Amino acid sequence: MRFWIILALMLFTAYFSIQRYMHPQLTHNSALDRIQHPLDTRLRYRIGTIDPRFNITTEQVLQLAQQAADIWQQGSMKSLFIYDPNAKLSINLIYDERQAESTARKQEIKVIENSRQYTNSEQDKVKQLDAQLSQAKQALDQYQANYQNKVNQYNQMIQALNQAQSNLTETARQQLDQDKQQLQKEQFELQQQINLFNQKVAQLNQHVNTANSINQQFNQSVDQFNQRFQPRQFDKGVFDGREINIYEFESNDDLRLTIAHELGHALGLQHNQDPKALMFPIMKEQDLAHFKLTPADLALLNARH
Ligand SMILES: [Zn+2]
Repeated sequence: MRFWIILALMLFTAYFSIQRYMHPQLTHNSALDRIQHPLDTRLRYRIGTIDPRFNITTEQVLQLAQQAADIWQQGSMKSLFIYDPNAKLSINLIYDERQAESTARKQEIKVIENSRQYTNSEQDKVKQLDAQLSQAKQALDQYQANYQNKVNQYNQMIQALNQAQSNLTETARQQLDQDKQQLQKEQFELQQQINLFNQKVAQLNQHVNTANSINQQFNQSVDQFNQRFQPRQFDKGVFDGREINIYEFESNDDLRLTIAHELGHALGLQHNQDPKALMFPIMKEQDLAHFKLTPADLALLNARH
């Protein structure tokens, strides 16, 4: 009898060792889980502590964790994870200065976005004014040419009269006076238009200066942003062999991918060198919203044992 018990135990142990070797993620399931589900090789996870300062519910985190697990499962066509409220591996959201920094970053991005829009609208204004002024300049040139024509005609007439040396009739003299007055009036109006135009040119120059300094400020704030906020590392999440702790995320897409990255470590994977890959240590070039495993990620997974 005792012999059979020992044999059964040995077989069990051998079976579990081989199973664990074939499916390294089983390391992180509890012994009880493995006995209760001897044929199930999926890594069991649960949602642990969620700090309320993240403003996200446990249900939302669970949903994102499931989507994170699906990234692996759909990409590899393997059943790797299962949610289990009693699992050993927990996913926690721990609030510290990193999330505070992330919030600051998010706010700064908003400020920069606003200032970008402002910069663009100022530049549009300058363009509009510039177009208006070109039109005004054309009209003014026309006006000036007409006026010059009339002056020339008037001068020619005076010259002709002087050459003729005949006495002018009263009517003709009155007509000439009228013409002269009319010309003076037009000259006055022309001068006014020129003054107005020059005012507008000065205004445009002011706008150009403003737009330039706004643009300069904008570029400065982008530089400052880039200096203060380096590309984010995935170390805002940590898998320590027992739990996945996440310290920072900017959006649901960001959190989903961070969980997926840490689940990758829980599968026993290290980092890879593809900037678009899930297991690349820096989160920058990945498609957050519609992420799919890259060949580099799958190569890591398939290289296990
Ligand atoms: Zn990592």
